[in-house]
Amino acid sequence: MQRILSMFLGLTLAMGVTAGCTKQRISAEKAIAATLISDEQEEDLGKQVKQELETKEKIKYVQDPAVVEYVRSLSAPIIRQANKDRPGVKWKINVIDDPKTVNAFATPGGYLYVYTGLILAADTEAELAGVMAHEAGHVVGRHSARAMVNQLGLQAVTQAALGKNPGAVATIATQLVGGGAMLAHGRGEELEADEYGARYASGASHDPRGLITFFQKLQEQQGGDGPGFMKWLSTHPANKDRIANIQKIIAEKKLRGSNNSPGGLPAIKQKLGAK
Ligand SMILES: [Zn+2]
Repeated sequence: MQRILSMFLGLTLAMGVTAGCTKQRISAEKAIAATLISDEQEEDLGKQVKQELETKEKIKYVQDPAVVEYVRSLSAPIIRQANKDRPGVKWKINVIDDPKTVNAFATPGGYLYVYTGLILAADTEAELAGVMAHEAGHVVGRHSARAMVNQLGLQAVTQAALGKNPGAVATIATQLVGGGAMLAHGRGEELEADEYGARYASGASHDPRGLITFFQKLQEQQGGDGPGFMKWLSTHPANKDRIANIQKIIAEKKLRGSNNSPGGLPAIKQKLGAK
């Protein structure tokens, strides 16, 4: 039965891609992901992946409570909006202590991870809020769960959620930390997450163009500061199409968030050792 479902999933996705209708394809994928993995399974899977990240991938969290509290309170109004689009997710925000890596990712179950390197690379609260809102959008769209089912198969993922497939969990964790292509989202999902990101950031009164300036900044600095520096950019190519799409969403949906100030960010960056 599961094999048939997997085949059905592959076939439907292939048909969707051929049809080339992004919006319909995304909602079809979402519907399939929703029927394949329950919210409870997502939550269990997110928990397994977190344990793996901590034990095998040796991620370390920021200890300074002021930094953690800052990121959580910045994210709180974003999450309130994401909750309206997808109720029932128990969001968890983790700040990874790694100033040399500019990265952020989301896993099933509403786990959002942001690296201190990304916080240090942002200049305004709108930029950081834009990234957190974009990652929240991947959770709302159930993108991570779908990518995992696509790559590993339904059975491996449901077994992983039960804690019965350590190999699959290890693969997922390694891919996430390494910015690996296997779990990278497709173009349609990225555009969808950009749309959620712009809407949520604006709804939290941030300038929705923060996501655009952040992409542009990373692109300018590309190749500068060592291998880990541009991990987020490598899974989030900042091409002209992408930026034009965000601008279009801002205009069409009349997104009006105006906060474009550094706010409390410089003080937090100083705590993280910014020069
Ligand atoms: Zn993304």
